[in-house]
Amino acid sequence: MTPVLSLSAPDLERWLEEHDAPAYRRKQIWTWLARGAATFDAMKDLPKALRNALEAELRVSSLRPIAVSRADDRLTTKTLYELDGGHSVEAVVMRYADRSTLCISSQAGCPIGCPFCATGKFPFGRNLKAYEIVEQAVDAERILAAEGRRLTHVVFMGMGEPMANYRAVVDSVRLLADPDLLGISPRRMVVSTSGLIPRIAQLGEEKLPVTLAISLHAARDELRDVLVPINRKYPVRDLVDAAQAYADTTGRRVSYEWVMLAGVNDTERDAKELGALLRRKLAHVNLIPFNPVEDTPYSAPARASIRAFKAMVQAQGLNVTVRDTRGREADAACGQLHERVTTQAAVT
Ligand code: SAH
Ligand code: SF4
Repeated sequence: MTPVLSLSAPDLERWLEEHDAPAYRRKQIWTWLARGAATFDAMKDLPKALRNALEAELRVSSLRPIAVSRADDRLTTKTLYELDGGHSVEAVVMRYADRSTLCISSQAGCPIGCPFCATGKFPFGRNLKAYEIVEQAVDAERILAAEGRRLTHVVFMGMGEPMANYRAVVDSVRLLADPDLLGISPRRMVVSTSGLIPRIAQLGEEKLPVTLAISLHAARDELRDVLVPINRKYPVRDLVDAAQAYADTTGRRVSYEWVMLAGVNDTERDAKELGALLRRKLAHVNLIPFNPVEDTPYSAPARASIRAFKAMVQAQGLNVTVRDTRGREADAACGQLHERVTTQAAVT
């Protein structure tokens, strides 16, 4: 059966017309989805006959939750969803005092293959459709609504390289922002990329004020070629130029991610190279303590080394913060729940 969000607004209105229902029902259906309705039957202000027709012909969502894990005293929950066709993706909900953030997946697997990343380790599956990306957010809204919370922020930092599934990602940003559905402002969304330069330039032209995050991890090509293999095609200086052009076009400060790997990219040399690369740029550096992944040669630096690295980067005149390690127990770094479930076939 057709997932309801796979129909565009005009397509759903056409479907309604064919079922002798007025076009304004489309908006009602979307509002119910955004409020967390789990079935069409729960959409109480729709006529019973229409609810029956919806139940008979459409699905509320194409995603099937197959595993959930919780951490941080239940402030972080991660759901693994099976997609139509059998691949699976993860989405993580993080609750804070004043907001709730969803970390969303854009691909099943990832073609980039960074050696420290759990997602990069298993074979690439497929691109997600825009509606499959949006359904993760609708499901997060359902989970949060039951707790009296609302979804306020979305970060494209789950499985996959968003820029390698460009059209669907941009379409999903527009749909997530649609006031008839979730109405999340693009200003509250972050798109993270390993650095597909042509797509960064294209995103700058979309007139969508999303924050761009660049997964930098190294400031010299020799090291970045290893950590983020797409660097061999799009070298780091060109990448920073493209990100700076994005900042100039959109007025949005770019966020640079730096996963901290002990003895690999946490030395004084790295801090100085990073300083030289980003000096006088509209930039913010986010240090992410490595979340250990089995069968990788990497480990997380000690807290003191992270603090020391932060101070060295600050001394270079850059804005820098250390990301909290939310979700460590929930296997929250991208791809980790998927890996645990597929290797242990465990449903928790
Ligand atoms: N593919 C995109 C977005 C998803 S990854 C990208 O790479 O930007 C989101 C962030 O998590 C990236 O900065 C990525 O490098 C980082 N990451 C991946 N594996 C990690 C791990 N094991 N520990 C900490 N951060 C990790
Ligand atoms: Fe893909 Fe991002 Fe993981 Fe690299 S870090 S393999 S680009 S998901």
